[in-house]
Amino acid sequence: MSDIESKGRVAIVTGGSRGIGRAIVLMLAREGWDVCFSYLSNVNAANETAALVEKAGRKALAVQADVAKQQDVRRLFSQSQKMFGRLDAMVSNAGVVGGTRSIFDADAEHLRGVFDANVLGSFYCVSEAAKQMSTQRGGRGGVIVNMSSVAARTGGMMNEAHYAASKGAIDSLTLGLARELAPHGIRVNAVRPGLIDTEIHEAHGGQETLARLAPTVPMARVGSADEVARVVSFLCGSQASYIHGALLDVSGGR
Ligand code: NAP
Repeated sequence: MSDIESKGRVAIVTGGSRGIGRAIVLMLAREGWDVCFSYLSNVNAANETAALVEKAGRKALAVQADVAKQQDVRRLFSQSQKMFGRLDAMVSNAGVVGGTRSIFDADAEHLRGVFDANVLGSFYCVSEAAKQMSTQRGGRGGVIVNMSSVAARTGGMMNEAHYAASKGAIDSLTLGLARELAPHGIRVNAVRPGLIDTEIHEAHGGQETLARLAPTVPMARVGSADEVARVVSFLCGSQASYIHGALLDVSGGR
């Protein structure tokens, strides 16, 4: 999308303080979007992201909101509406791995933690986004991008079936929403990153694990958060006007 087309547009990005979310926030800001983003607890990272948006000449609103809590998500969307008065794109990016855990140690509290953040959190966010965007409810339409993972189709890393299954749910959610929300003027797609260099991998060995797995990727390297952000910003823009219900891998062939 050109700078002229995207000026004045507003996006909400969940989990925008660090990693892939921050890269998406900054990519959109550089393309002329104002951005509201959420974070869980890292105030310093959130402030840094907001400052970088403002440096790019756009407005930023950082909101502490746990996506696993529906009342927090409602507050996030109402604060954004209050400040910006419109919503053109929503990227449901916040997510957790939930550490490694064998299926022999499956436990309700652990599973609920992962599914509350990754799956229910996305449901809460797309629901609020749809309410603000729907052309049948007075909105101007818009775009939703859900952050899935190649784990949804590979089963993920060893002892991380909980994470893979939560991302499988994101794929199904995306396909269902594409059917339900098209008549409301809302395009819905998912991006499925492969191995991307962020702090999320601290859950299973950090940089050491990335270095060990890089040669198993057909392109023989891990990806960067910017390489995912570029695809998300493309999906948010008018160049992607006929892409709907797609699950787009950004994985170096993995
Ligand atoms: P990350 O570096 O760990 O960053 C996670 C972001 O999400 C942070 O901004 C964090 O906020 C926020 N967050 C975490 N839990 C939250 C919650 N309950 N409510 C609100 N915000 C929350 O992760 P990442 O690698 O950028 O991953 C982003 C997304 O991409 C996730 O959905 C992940 O599953 C997906 N993904 C990542 C990879 C990869 O290789 N990195 C691959 C496939 C898919 P704080 O800063 O406050 O903690």
